[in-house]
Amino acid sequence: MTFEALGLNTSLIKALTDAGYTAPTPVQQQAIPAAIAGKDLLVSSQTGSGKTAAFMLPSLHRLSEIDPAAAGKTPNQEMQAARARGERPRFKAAQPKMLVLTPTRELALQVTSNTDKYSVNLRRLKAVSILGGMPYPKQMQLLAKNPEILVATPGRLIDHMESGKIDFSQLEILVLDEADRMLDMGFIDDIEKIVEATPSTRQTMLFSATLDGVVGNMARRITKDPQVIQI
Ligand code: AMP
Repeated sequence: MTFEALGLNTSLIKALTDAGYTAPTPVQQQAIPAAIAGKDLLVSSQTGSGKTAAFMLPSLHRLSEIDPAAAGKTPNQEMQAARARGERPRFKAAQPKMLVLTPTRELALQVTSNTDKYSVNLRRLKAVSILGGMPYPKQMQLLAKNPEILVATPGRLIDHMESGKIDFSQLEILVLDEADRMLDMGFIDDIEKIVEATPSTRQTMLFSATLDGVVGNMARRITKDPQVIQI
């Protein structure tokens, strides 16, 4: 089995070759074609199985097909234009296309750095981490660039959402990574609030060590006709 056979575009294949990935792992073999087709996924898999690439590669593939001309000016460009007109620029909310929720800062940083590696030939697609403990001014700068992909821990994301810095109305893909750990850490209310703020037409992918009990209930509530993958 090759990455080409899974349907990924040549920019992604080249990045994978450069990263030294020769063949997809079992979870990637199952998840990538289904996710490219737009299906929701419920995946039970462990850290080390290659799950990050399993959700990020098909997402980058799909996002790279969105017409850039339709995207319009970034909030940053709008703020610069306002300054040039002598107006006081107002912060415009970021409108990400993809959101990855993770239980910890470490995992978020790892997902973002893998994304940078995979998207190296897709210049338009940028990923940014939004984490508790990071200074707010720095995060506002990152959000002002209107990144297509946000990788976040739930608590800090809620702060930005409630203060109007992020608008999820254009979100196409939602990923819950290590969902069981997020629930163990007490993030259920935050997750529910975030999910409610996203369009019901989104694609949802949930990864978890287990799909039983509370996490299974939530998984079934937030996905539509999901493909279930157990590795
Ligand atoms: P993850 O399970 O996403 O934390 O990935 C575990 C490690 O495997 C990471 O260091 C990835 O960069 C690496 N990896 C993921 N997929 C592949 C692959 N198909 N071939 C080689 N390495 C991979």
